[in-house]
Amino acid sequence: MHAAQHGSRTAALSGLYGKMENVSAGTTQTLPAPRPILAEAVDLARSALLDLGETSIGDYLGVSTEDETAATHRFAATMPGYRGWQWAVVLAAAPAADEVTVSESVLLPGPDALIAPEWVPWDQRIRPGDLGPGDLLAPTAHDERLVPGFVANGDPEIDEVAVEIGLGRKQVMSLDGRVDAAQRWHDGDYGPDTEMAKAAVSVCGLCGFYLPLAGSLHNAFGVCGNEFAMDGRVVHTEFGCGAHSDTALPTGAGSPAYAAFDDAAVEVVTLAPPRSEAAAASGTDAGQAAQSAETTAPPADQDPASSP
Ligand code: SF4
Repeated sequence: MHAAQHGSRTAALSGLYGKMENVSAGTTQTLPAPRPILAEAVDLARSALLDLGETSIGDYLGVSTEDETAATHRFAATMPGYRGWQWAVVLAAAPAADEVTVSESVLLPGPDALIAPEWVPWDQRIRPGDLGPGDLLAPTAHDERLVPGFVANGDPEIDEVAVEIGLGRKQVMSLDGRVDAAQRWHDGDYGPDTEMAKAAVSVCGLCGFYLPLAGSLHNAFGVCGNEFAMDGRVVHTEFGCGAHSDTALPTGAGSPAYAAFDDAAVEVVTLAPPRSEAAAASGTDAGQAAQSAETTAPPADQDPASSP
């Protein structure tokens, strides 16, 4: 960190950091304006930084009041990697003093500074869905979701029965753990208030694919066993989907075994015009043909058989 170059002064100022942070930038506190003797000492503030060998000093950003005797002048920091950071120089002047002294200087993040995200302890960083194949995720030492389960007592008859009814584990879920799980499932993608559930014709609790959970969650939750629906998911008894075992196909569904005759279709057929219309449409041709027939026809009193 660049501020490490100023190790001694930053260490000396560490106790003041909280206070400095409040005044570095963006403060919403309404404080009186600094006394003129403090407000006008901009050059003194800048020279205090230069005296420390600091060269990455940018524009002057303003001054703010610390209290009646102190004010902080701020300058933009221009070194690479410190976008939005500011140099803050605190000046002091006792009441009635005619001289200003430098109290301290420090590099602080401004309101738009690029700073590291808030620290999150490692054991709180894992989110639901992060666990991958082969990952190991042990419960914490005092995980409130777990309580001691049945401990085998050495009597084979009792121990066998205990295992059969699900008590043969070192730990079982506590009441808190069950309530939390039930709330998550209720509020999740397979709960009763989802769009899918509202649109379903019936509920999982009445579905043949519904496999109820054991124990106290039995009344509200089960696992869907329909590979075409929510297969393997814990569903609320009032969830539901269109693949419910009682879903009936709407009538008329399916394909016919042969191409159906469509009596609504129109078939266009070209018809020959009636004879009278045909004759009217070709009157000239017909007259000429008749005339030609008269020309070539033998006289009525002539024997056709005698004609050459
Ligand atoms: S098929 Fe649908 S209604 Fe039936 S259990 Fe699965 S999610 Fe519920």
